[in-house]
Amino acid sequence: MPDNHYKVIIIGSGPAGLTAAIYTARADLKPLVLEGDQPGGQLTITTEVENYPGFAKGIMGPELMVEFREQARRFGADIRQVGVTHVDFSGRPHRVVTAKEAFTGDTVIIASGARALLLGLESESRLMGHGVSACATCDGFFFRGKKIAVVGGGDSAMEEATFLTKFADQVTVIHRRDTLRASKIMQKRAQDNPKIDFMWNATVTEVKGEPAAGVRALQVKDTTNGSEREVPFEGLFLAIGHLPNTEFLKGQLTLDENGYVITHDGTQTSVEGVFACGDVQDHVYKQAVTAAGTGCMAAIDAERYLESRHPT
Ligand code: NAP
Repeated sequence: MPDNHYKVIIIGSGPAGLTAAIYTARADLKPLVLEGDQPGGQLTITTEVENYPGFAKGIMGPELMVEFREQARRFGADIRQVGVTHVDFSGRPHRVVTAKEAFTGDTVIIASGARALLLGLESESRLMGHGVSACATCDGFFFRGKKIAVVGGGDSAMEEATFLTKFADQVTVIHRRDTLRASKIMQKRAQDNPKIDFMWNATVTEVKGEPAAGVRALQVKDTTNGSEREVPFEGLFLAIGHLPNTEFLKGQLTLDENGYVITHDGTQTSVEGVFACGDVQDHVYKQAVTAAGTGCMAAIDAERYLESRHPT
């Protein structure tokens, strides 16, 4: 086989991809990991992670991903910082192409993750992890006793707002229209919660604050008349949807209507020998620990698949 052929190619380097790398490397399968444009995935844009088991004192997101990476390298994973432009799963072996070169693999593990949609404000990215968050489960705990805002009008916004009332004193849902997109039951749950109020026909145009001190206020625009005002808030959660990173897979694998990879029987995709794990196939749990769990499953599924084709 040529030099650029691997038994296992892993696309993505968040908790799912690197766990798959640790397991396949320890199984002596010498995996190739194509890290993508954001090595380490979504955890590299969070600050403290307090809910990853095994770290009683918590750990910074980027530091956790360094540990994952070193662990995968220790067992011989070949990790390269490059993004995949397209794949060809029509023949055998599978082809995975980057901007510079092409690789072939007996198996491919897709772990390219998802990204939270953001408003696109400079102040929002500057304060991400410092009062701005796109994950209530991850960061809600840091907002105990505070007055915070959630942007969005879908099920995620209702769910996140309701969850955040466990910690925050007051949660304001800021929605750009005067009707919610969320299902009736989720709307009712949020509307019945005395700690939640709604700011209708409103968009956030700027997040005010400093990384060291956190969020102090939001600049909010009234969409009916264009007027703007500053409203004091101590935190901002974005809940305007997620996008799975599957653009490079279109036409190659079966995706659901929102673009997530459909898996069955563990981590098997619609193409034999191609497996998927982590947020790219999970729009429900979206946690580092669940991504790592499915990464382990994908590694075992790939190993068993290889074993079934070439029993030792
Ligand atoms: P979603 O249904 O697409 O809702 C996104 C919300 O964000 C919409 O209200 C939208 O406003 C708003 N939005 C989008 N871009 C915006 C922008 N740039 N500025 C301001 N607001 C913006 O996304 P989701 O709530 O994440 O839900 C995704 C899927 O997961 C849905 O099918 C949902 O039912 C499902 N889900 C289910 C549950 C559950 O059942 N427990 C929980 C979470 C999610 P408009 O309404 O004006 O478009």
